[in-house]
Amino acid sequence: MSFSKLSLASLITSAVAVCAQTYPTTNSSISNGITIADLATGASCACTRLAATFGDLCLTANSTNYTAEVMEYWDIRSDLLPKCIFFPADADQVATAVSTFTSCGAQFAIRGGGHMNFPGSNNIDGGVLLALNHLTDIVVASDNSSIAVGPGTRWVDVYEALAPYGLYCIGGRLKTIGVPGLELIGGFHYLINKYGFAMDNVLSYDVVLGNGTQVVADATTNTDLFWALKGGANNFGIVTKFVIKALPIPMISSTIQAFNESYAEDFIAATVEMTQNNDAEIGAGSVVSIQYNATTKVVTPSLLGVQEGTESPPSRFAPYSRIPSLQTVNNVSTPREWHKNLDTPNQMFRVQFAHKTIKPDTDQLVKIYKAWKDAVDTVSDVKGLYPTFVLNIISKSTMTVAKENGIGNTWGLDDDQDLIIWQLSTGWDNAVDDLRMTNWARGFLDYWHAENQAAGLASEFIYMGDAGEFQEPFTGFPLKNVQRMRQIREDVDPLGVFSRLNWGGFKLGN
Ligand SMILES: Cc1cc2nc3c(=O)[nH]c(=O)nc-3n(C[C@H](O)[C@H](O)[C@H](O)COP(=O)(O)OP(=O)(O)OC[C@H]3O[C@@H](n4cnc5c(N)ncnc54)[C@H](O)[C@@H]3O)c2cc1C
Repeated sequence: MSFSKLSLASLITSAVAVCAQTYPTTNSSISNGITIADLATGASCACTRLAATFGDLCLTANSTNYTAEVMEYWDIRSDLLPKCIFFPADADQVATAVSTFTSCGAQFAIRGGGHMNFPGSNNIDGGVLLALNHLTDIVVASDNSSIAVGPGTRWVDVYEALAPYGLYCIGGRLKTIGVPGLELIGGFHYLINKYGFAMDNVLSYDVVLGNGTQVVADATTNTDLFWALKGGANNFGIVTKFVIKALPIPMISSTIQAFNESYAEDFIAATVEMTQNNDAEIGAGSVVSIQYNATTKVVTPSLLGVQEGTESPPSRFAPYSRIPSLQTVNNVSTPREWHKNLDTPNQMFRVQFAHKTIKPDTDQLVKIYKAWKDAVDTVSDVKGLYPTFVLNIISKSTMTVAKENGIGNTWGLDDDQDLIIWQLSTGWDNAVDDLRMTNWARGFLDYWHAENQAAGLASEFIYMGDAGEFQEPFTGFPLKNVQRMRQIREDVDPLGVFSRLNWGGFKLGN
């Protein structure tokens, strides 16, 4: 669709008139200076204006690609039905959209890679979805020190762009996860023991604020906002560019290992050993999981391990390599080759991640694992059940990076304690089981977290990227950091656009 200047201008004028007519103050509330329309009226106003101004960059329910776009999510539960979907082509259009949402009082959701897996975290029924798919610019700095990346990119795109220069960076461990989620909420990569979390490697954020202005936040400009974005999620603005530190790591050494059930306890012990012996001298880390098929009763512990450099097999995974495996594949490759095979297709299941954190303790983790298996058996009638027990390692040296880089991050974790996140990742087929599965996970986590608290083993840290919708990651942050973030939010978004109109995902609260 294209418009002449005249018809475009008249469309905008009529859209504004429509909004003026259909924006009843009786159905709106005024909160802290911002007027919030009821859902349908606000969305109608914003969608009409965006369609008038940007034509087919704004999809409505009867547009050809609408159905495909509302399924661009990893979790089927996230397939909601927005009134329209707007695809800004650049930061200026993001700014126009934010101003439109504000003046219409329209509720909206932001989607990057669409992997945060709970409904409403990145989509909105009846509101406006701002989909960042078109913001895919990637530029490697001429001195090879960094890479500038748009929020519509996936991690595989970033690794592809860095590959010709023999560079790598700290991002997602699998292929198609979105860049913005990890850069705003933390980011577990393989090499975090040496380089810190993904957010610790962001050198600057370009941000559209709630009043539509565009700012840069880095180590010298808007430094409070720079800190707040490192873990503060979508509470402050919409990021339109991330500049990420590039690392001269042309080759990595990997190991893929699978074991049978009789070695599950050794596998957990190896994970604890690895957590406690993974200093920063060599960058090395993993995806550690135990899959349980509740029908066949087959348990499969498995490791995806990656270490920087070419030493093969990678020595940091010796605790696992000592266990007899069903299958081991060691390889040395470029990061690009490694990541390009790690696909996680969208729409495989309804799925939920939820977790708690513990100090490394083999006996307690084995107890939790066994209890989890028993708990899975209690829901084995759930159609399409796909249960996985995941262990995410945070060695002390991971936290040292933020403590020593002069910036820090909002998590404020001390580097005197190794941690392991124990996570339930559960897939199922039917909506009728949503509530049952959520309560199942919640009950299990709460009980075992209480056991861990009683044993002096619990940590209150919750990783937003892998949290269930019923969890409250910010309550695990140091209170002074939450207070500081709230003050920064007040400074950069006094209207409350990102707490009142954009309310999906994890919010700081009022
Ligand atoms: C299969 C799979 C593998 C995963 N692997 C890893 C992993 O290796 N490491 C890890 O740390 N985590 C991992 N995760 C969790 C992951 O960190 C989160 O799901 C993360 O939110 C994904 O980012 P995204 O851009 O794809 O998500 P989205 O769902 O698009 O966005 C996440 C949140 O950020 C907001 N947002 C998105 N873009 C912007 C923006 N530009 N400005 C402001 N707010 C924005 C959204 O509104 C949403 O609330 C994985 C998840 C899945 C499903």
